[in-house]
Amino acid sequence: MEGNLKKNIKNFDLDELKEELKSIGEKPFRAEQIFSWLYKENVSSFNEMTNLSLDLRKKLEENYSIGSFKIERKFESKDGTKKYLFNVLDEEENLIESVLMSYHHGYTACVSSQIGCKMGCTFCASTGIKFGRNLESGEIIQQILEIEKDAGIKISNIVFMGIGEPLDNYDNVMNSIKIINNPKGLNIGARHISISTSGLVPKIYELADKHIQCTLSVSLHSSNNKKRSEMMPVNKVYPIEELIKACKYYIEKTNKRISFEYALAKDNNDNLEDAKELANLLSGMLAHVNLIPINKIEDGKYTKSSNENIIKFRDYLNSRGIVATIRRELGSDINAACGQLRRQKLKE
Ligand code: SAH
Repeated sequence: MEGNLKKNIKNFDLDELKEELKSIGEKPFRAEQIFSWLYKENVSSFNEMTNLSLDLRKKLEENYSIGSFKIERKFESKDGTKKYLFNVLDEEENLIESVLMSYHHGYTACVSSQIGCKMGCTFCASTGIKFGRNLESGEIIQQILEIEKDAGIKISNIVFMGIGEPLDNYDNVMNSIKIINNPKGLNIGARHISISTSGLVPKIYELADKHIQCTLSVSLHSSNNKKRSEMMPVNKVYPIEELIKACKYYIEKTNKRISFEYALAKDNNDNLEDAKELANLLSGMLAHVNLIPINKIEDGKYTKSSNENIIKFRDYLNSRGIVATIRRELGSDINAACGQLRRQKLKE
């Protein structure tokens, strides 16, 4: 398709767009006008940019795409959570998932960073489906814009917890954050953005040195190398000791608390011994533990811990001075757990 060979205009941050416009013989201040149409007005075509000349609109149309998606499916939960399956409309049928969650402090979008995932976590629905490619930064942004348009709301928080490993698509994720942060772009501050990683140690160091104010979430799920490697093959490359060392460096550099994700699976990582091991590992660290009842995936070997065990686990951590909370399960009636919708559609 010819249209898809055009560059996505949403891949450029504001400075890059100014340069790009200069390169096609236009005035750089046009970039701010275009930014406003893209991110404040959320238009779907260059033709709607009515303060630009018809000639410029035509030129933009000829040279760039505006990166729209098609909503392939949408599910709405009783609790207000909306889950979207987007077709990114490139040459293949590429599907990604994004979720809109409503909290008392505003709306949160959970976005995907890749089409598929290479990490192979054994409890995750994105595993076992062929990896496609990295998402471009404009495609990361587009998820937010499509949700805002469809739901008629303004997103105030973003979590990189959809499909993919954000630190495995580091450059595009960082570039998308520039546009998300820019007051002339989506105007969402770094403190309202969380990046979740399975533990790509070298990238955690890189992120620490970047000094951006995003929250880092680390998917830990076990504090025992044998168990963690079974759940997360990445642990064979970057074992717990190295991961924690990198996390301590991150905390020291940024002075920010790390959020450790811990999905509790019955008779696997949810007994008191596991809680003790975890408390020993995180003792003295500026950390928070987010306990998640694991979502059972189709044919998956892990099942959810009982509520009683989850509460015991949390209480033990709290008694050891570690802040731990149980994540509220949103959208469980619409399969809002990682990758589930895409997996279902690809199997049809
Ligand atoms: N690759 C990144 C971000 C995407 S996954 C990461 O690993 O952090 C987002 C979060 O959902 C991670 O904490 C991941 O471990 C968790 N997750 C994936 N599948 C899950 C499941 N079936 N049940 C509970 N949590 C799950």
